[in-house]
Amino acid sequence: MSKPRILTGDTPTSTGLHLGHYVGSLENRLKLQSEYDCYFLVANVHAFTTLADKPEQIRANTIGIVKDWLAVGLDPEASTFVLQSEIPAIAELTFLFAMLIPFNKVMRNPTLKTEIETKGLGETYPFGFPMYAVGQCADILTFRPDLVPVGEDQEAHIEMCRDVALKFNQMYCGVGNRVPADEHAKAGGLFPVPKAKIGRIARLVGLDGVNKMSKSLGNAIFLYDTAKDVQKKINKITTGRQSPTDPGDANNVLMQYVDAFITRDRADELKSRYAAGDNLGDGHVKQELGEAINLLLEPMRVRRAQLDGDKGDALVTDVIRRGIKKANVVAEETLLLAKRAMKLEFGARVIG
Ligand code: ATP
Ligand code: MG
Repeated sequence: MSKPRILTGDTPTSTGLHLGHYVGSLENRLKLQSEYDCYFLVANVHAFTTLADKPEQIRANTIGIVKDWLAVGLDPEASTFVLQSEIPAIAELTFLFAMLIPFNKVMRNPTLKTEIETKGLGETYPFGFPMYAVGQCADILTFRPDLVPVGEDQEAHIEMCRDVALKFNQMYCGVGNRVPADEHAKAGGLFPVPKAKIGRIARLVGLDGVNKMSKSLGNAIFLYDTAKDVQKKINKITTGRQSPTDPGDANNVLMQYVDAFITRDRADELKSRYAAGDNLGDGHVKQELGEAINLLLEPMRVRRAQLDGDKGDALVTDVIRRGIKKANVVAEETLLLAKRAMKLEFGARVIG
């Protein structure tokens, strides 16, 4: 029997991934990599929604993200690495899916609204920005996955993607309106209606203590940061607390990180002493936190360093090329089946 499928991915808006990616999605990818047939996508076309004038940067970021995937332990032999720009079926399905989503629904999407606000996009963002939410439905459905491991910020997008799958199956595959989402594939639907799988920490807060940790907001600890930089970034966190005997907020940014990165029992002990003002200074917590995070990141840093320079770039480019080949086989099959269902197909084409 074939394995169930996973699709998930990252946008190359920065040179690498951060701790939010790790707890929100990468941990699940690692855990599920052998049980599932996994497709990991770099959304390099979507990076143009905010960085259209920086193509070199997007290219370098793409390489950087794939290096991080390898450093974390994603395996290009077991899984398929997908480069969005080289999968024509994704672009074609984006246009077709755009007919199945009401325009107003896209514009009301809470994830898009938050991004417009936090990234300061104002009124001048390109048409392609809201369009990326539709594109993401195509990224996902092209690979007909069962599960999408993501952080909480992506829930609205996955919901939209589920709507598209349901509508497509009902409109073009004869699936009845009362068939439950879980049974669509069995009932003849082309697309399984995929479920979001939210990470251990659904939304890791950024170093600013306000927004989610984000590549684009300058509030992130990156997986490749040096041990010194990690500690420096943590030391700069402000909690407003004055002395080790002040009762602290057990939900502030520092304590959220304690929760996420320090072992359960010790985290609970630190949190209760912190809340009680039991002689526990922010400085001590920061030191212990820095050590725990560095312990987690050290093996990744070592593997990332092995991929430094031109040789690493060439190796990663090769991995990307092989991934594209594998991905296009599935993508072309999905496109063909979708076009057939929509009565659009007049002759199969071959992509080499
Ligand atoms: P950008 O700021 O450019 O949007 P990002 O940091 O949000 O970048 P994405 O590439 O948009 O990163 O997201 C990749 C994946 O990581 C998504 O599944 C997203 O939900 C998850 N993710 C991103 N940030 C966090 C976070 N702070 N906590 C939990 N999951 C996160
Ligand atoms: Mg994002």
